[in-house]
Amino acid sequence: MLMKVFLHTIGCRLNQSEIETMGRQLLVAGHELVDDASQADKVIINTCAVTAEAARDGRNITRRIHRTNEDAEIILTGCYATIAPQKAGQIEGTGRIVLNQDKDKLVQMIDPEARIDLPVYEQEPILREFLAGSSQVANTRAFIKVQDGCDNKCTFCVTTIARGAGQSRHLGNVVAEIQALAAAGYQEAVLTGVHLGSYGRDLHNNTDLRDLITAILTHSDIPRLRLSSLEPWEIPDGFFALWQNPRLLPHLHMPLQSGSDPILRRMARRTSRASFRALAAKARAHIPDLNLTTDIIVGFPGEREADFQDSLDFVREIGFTRLHVFSYSSRPGTAAAKMPGHLPKAVKKERARRMIALGQELSLKFHQRYETQTRPVLWENAVGADNGGLRWAGYTDNYIRVLAHGPADLFNRVTPTQLVEARPDGLSGQIIV
Ligand code: SF4
Repeated sequence: MLMKVFLHTIGCRLNQSEIETMGRQLLVAGHELVDDASQADKVIINTCAVTAEAARDGRNITRRIHRTNEDAEIILTGCYATIAPQKAGQIEGTGRIVLNQDKDKLVQMIDPEARIDLPVYEQEPILREFLAGSSQVANTRAFIKVQDGCDNKCTFCVTTIARGAGQSRHLGNVVAEIQALAAAGYQEAVLTGVHLGSYGRDLHNNTDLRDLITAILTHSDIPRLRLSSLEPWEIPDGFFALWQNPRLLPHLHMPLQSGSDPILRRMARRTSRASFRALAAKARAHIPDLNLTTDIIVGFPGEREADFQDSLDFVREIGFTRLHVFSYSSRPGTAAAKMPGHLPKAVKKERARRMIALGQELSLKFHQRYETQTRPVLWENAVGADNGGLRWAGYTDNYIRVLAHGPADLFNRVTPTQLVEARPDGLSGQIIV
C-alpha cells in the first residue's frame, strides 16, 4: 500500500544522514514523502538526547504533530527514544518506538515488502528525484553514515550510551553509495559517524579512515568530499597528506569541548591543550585555507572561573573559525551527572554568552581574510528575493556560508564566486559567470 510519510530529524549530522537514507529507501519502495505532517499516514522522528533541550524538542514535536493529525502513526527512533523508551512511549500520539540498533531496518518494519537493497544503478533516477527537492529533508550535500557507536567514555556523553560500541560500514558499500549519489547529480558527500577516527577498527582488516577516503576519491566521481566531525585523537599517520587532493575539502570540525586541562581530565577526553595545539598546527601545515571549527561545553561540573578563562584563552590562541557552544546539560546515566560541583544555570548562561561572543569575533576575523578572494561555492537554496533578484545561500569549499544574487537554476551548482563583504556568519558574494 502506498504510504505518505513525513520525516523529521533533530540533532547531529549522523541523524541527518539516517533520515536521508530512510527518505531514499521509502522513495525506492514507491512511497511518497510529504512536507506537511497533517497529510501523512506515517511520521518518523529521529530524536536526539545530547542535551535536555534536544530531548524536550522531540517530545514537543511529537505532541504537536499528533494534535494536527491524530490518524498518523508516529514512529520515534534515535537517541532519546533509545535511552528512554518507556517515557518516549508514553508521549501522547506515539505509535511505535524503534531503538537505534534496529533503525537500519525501520523502513522494512513499516513496509515488509520494501526492497531497500535495490542495485545502485536502479536507484539513480529515484535519487535524482530525491535530490531535486521532493522532501524537506533532502540536501545538496549527501550525509553518508560510515560509522556508528563509540568505544570512548567521555563523562558527559550520552551518545555512547544511546548508540553502543563502534561499528563501521564496509568500505565497498560506502564507495558504491557515494558513486550512486554522484551519478544522480550530487556535488558533495559528507562522511558522518559518532567517532569517525575509529573507522575500520572493528572490521579487523587494517582498514582505517585514511583508506576509506582514498577509496572514495579513487573509485567515485563525487566532486566534493567533506568530513563531518573528527575527535582530536586516533588520527591515522599521514592523514593530512590526503588533502593534496582538492576534492577533499579544507574544513575540519574537531570537538575540543574545553581549553582547560583539569576539565579535559574530568571529561575523560583523550586530548590536552598540548596535544590539540600540535594537531591543529599539523593540520594547518598540510591544508591551505583550513577552516577549523569546534564544539565547546561551558559550565562543566567543577569548572572554576580560572578554568573557563583558560578555555577562552586557548580558543583564541588556536583561532577557531566557528564555535558550537553548549551549556553543560546533565544527562541520565553519564558519569558527569554524578559528579560534585554542578553550576547554577545563570553562571552557565553567562559563560555561554562570553564564549559565543568570542566565537563571533573569531568568525568575522576569518571571513575578513577572504574579502575580494574568489572561491567555488555550492549553491543550496534560495533564501528570498529583493531588487537585485533571487538571493541564494551556499557554501565555499572551506565551508564559509555565502549569500549572493543569482539565476533561478542555481540549485546544486558549483560556481566561482567573488567574496565581497564579511560578516560573523559568512560573506556576501558575486557569482562569476
Ligand atoms: S568520543 Fe566521547 S563525546 Fe564523542 S561520542 Fe564518544 S564518548 Fe561521546
